[in-house]
Parts: sequence; C-alpha cells; structure tokens
Amino acid sequence: MTSEFVYVAHPARVIFGEGTIAQVEDEARELGIKRPMVLTTPAQKDDGRRLAARLDLDEKALFSGATMHTPVHVTEKALSQFEAIGADGTIAFGGGSTIGLGKAIAYRKDTPQLVVPTTYAGSEMTALLGETEDGRKKTFSSPRVLPETVIYDVDLTLGLPRQMTVTSGMNAMAHAVEALYAENGNPVLSLMAEEGIRALTSALAHLADGALDDRAARRDALYGAWLCATCLGLSGVALHHKICHVLGGSFDTPHAETHTIVLPHALAYNAPAVPQAMERLRRATGSKTPAAYLFDIAKAAGVPTTLADLGLKREDLPKIIEVTLENPYYNPRALEREPLQELLVNALEGRRPEW
Ligand code: NAD
Repeated sequence: MTSEFVYVAHPARVIFGEGTIAQVEDEARELGIKRPMVLTTPAQKDDGRRLAARLDLDEKALFSGATMHTPVHVTEKALSQFEAIGADGTIAFGGGSTIGLGKAIAYRKDTPQLVVPTTYAGSEMTALLGETEDGRKKTFSSPRVLPETVIYDVDLTLGLPRQMTVTSGMNAMAHAVEALYAENGNPVLSLMAEEGIRALTSALAHLADGALDDRAARRDALYGAWLCATCLGLSGVALHHKICHVLGGSFDTPHAETHTIVLPHALAYNAPAVPQAMERLRRATGSKTPAAYLFDIAKAAGVPTTLADLGLKREDLPKIIEVTLENPYYNPRALEREPLQELLVNALEGRRPEW
C-alpha cells in the first residue's frame, strides 16, 4: 500500500549522451551566457583550455584553481577574475570540487551555471554548497546554487582512473541508498534510487574488472550517477552521511574513499529497520545481501575497504561516536553506542557485512 508523501522536484535541464560536449556553446547561449568563465582543477587545466578554445575564449576566461572543500579564498580569487573579464556565467568542467566553485560564484553573483560533470559525485543536481573558511566547513542550501543546465558526456568519463571510478561510483550509490530510507523519502525517489543503484552496480562490476573504456558500462555508470545525484538533491540523508561528514570534518579523510568504506557497514546497521529498502536493494543488485555485495565490489577493485587504510585507529572511534551523537541526523534505526561501536570496528577492520 502506498503511504502518504510529499514530492518536490528541482528544475533541471539535463543533456545526456556521447559527444554531448559539442552542445556546450548552444547550451550556454540558451542560458543567456555571452561571456562565460570556464572552471577546472589544476589537474584538468588542459581540458579547460580545450573547452575555452572550442568557445573561442582566451586564457583569461579560464580559472583552473578549483580545489577540495571550496575554500572561500579560492572563490574570492576566481570572483576577481570573473569580474575583471566581465563574465556573466560559469561553465564548471570536472568533479565535485570544480562544481562547488561554480556554485560559490553563482551564490554571490546570481549568474547562471552550465555544468559538465566528469566524476560520479553528483553535486551538479543539488542546491547544496559546503564552503570552508578558517578551517571550518559550512554547508547550506540555496536555490541560487542549483545549476541550471547539466551536460553529461560519457566520453569525458572514459579516462576516469580505476580507483576514482569505483570510489566515486560508491559515493553516488550512498546518496541513493539513503534516499531509500530518508525521512522525506517518497515512491518516485525510491524508483530513481533503485534504478540508479542497478545501473551503477552492474557498470562498476565491468569497470572494476579492467575494461575502463567500456562505453556501455560507462554510459550506465553515468546514467546511474545522475539518478543517484537527483536522489541526493531531493531527499535527506542519514547515518551513513553523518559518519562520513564526521570523518571528513574531524579526520580530514578523502571524500569518495570514506563513502566507499563506510557505506556497506552503515547499510548493514540500518538493514533490520528498513525491510522495504532492503527488498529494493536486493532487486537492484541481484544479491540477497546487498551490503556485502557493495563491500565485494570495492574489495575486488582493490580500493580501500578499511578505515585503517585511511590512517584511523581504534582509539579514534569514541570521538567519532561522540560527534555523531552530539548532533545526529535523522536515522531509521535508533543510534546506540554499542551497535555504533560495532559498525565502526567493522569499518576499521574491513569485515564483510552479513546483510
Ligand atoms: P574532485 O572534484 O575533487 O576530483 C578529484 C580529482 O579528480 C581532481 O583532481 C579532478 O580534477 C580529477 N578528475 C575529475 N574528473 C576526472 C576525469 N574524468 N579523469 C581524470 N581526472 C578527473 O572529486 P569528486 O569526488 O568529484 O568531488 C568531491 C567533492 O565534491 C567533495 O568536496 C564533496 O564535498 C563535494 N560534493 C558536493 C556535493 C553537493 O551536493 N554539494 C555532492 C557531492 C560531492
């Protein structure tokens, strides 16, 4: 029986396919952007140059200093360049770090954003922005921050290295897993979450095995990532994201790896409390034990599967539990110290979940 729910959607224009980067000029024009500023990280500067050349822009229209956690001093530097060239919109080309910078500029200038994601992290579909200043990260939501147009081009993901492919894919699935039992979940989001996890797990099984340029698998992975990102944009999160935020905030652990390690254990913790979500996950993964299935994908791909791999020690666990309980997020299963300790020991040591 369908229960009562509230469904809210974000406006979004999404172009999905192969070679879709060719549409960037038309899409920028559609948004009314006449003088775009192209954003990348230092590692993707050459891609940024090629994109600027495609748009007939000179080097001044490229800012390639995007970095993790959207530091405000980097945003200010990008803003001075944005103003100096008289830009009227941004084209963010890259992963969550670059998209974060585009959002920070849009928040301050109220200018349109065209986004070309090259990882599976999913920031492009959310109105969320996390900025850091004086060592503190502040996360907030604003309609100004939501990108207007997103161009997904499968070709741009063919070179994503194996480790990032798997960890970024697991990061994406974490959004969908928690949408299945979010406080504000609803049947439409559950459909997207199930389909996103189905597409991503089957794609990762191929990509983790070696064929990184398998176009069919890359297509499924990016399609799945879009669905999972939509889930993050439209629903709340729970224990998994809370633990990842505590680990990132207090121990500076890397974003996608942290999600990869914690997800199977956070899901196993919640599994007894969310039978419908587990049924969807069994269908999506084709496994009777979806948490163990996710763990196995990471293990087979050789990416980190223990918090010890990230430098954490047993003596760090009480602090993680303390901060998790201080200001907890909604969670379908009560948060209790002993089971939380068990979850964290399992994640620390990389034990295969039973669920
Ligand atoms: P990232 O953007 O930091 O990218 C990591 C590195 O990979 C960078 O050097 C980047 O240039 C490179 N890279 C990106 N695409 C590549 C490709 N196709 N081939 C080769 N190299 C490539 O990593 P991420 O995991 O995409 O994003 C993580 C950040 O995004 C975190 O700071 C996280 O908080 C944020 N995030 C925000 C939201 C949100 O809704 N606000 C959602 C998800 C993630």
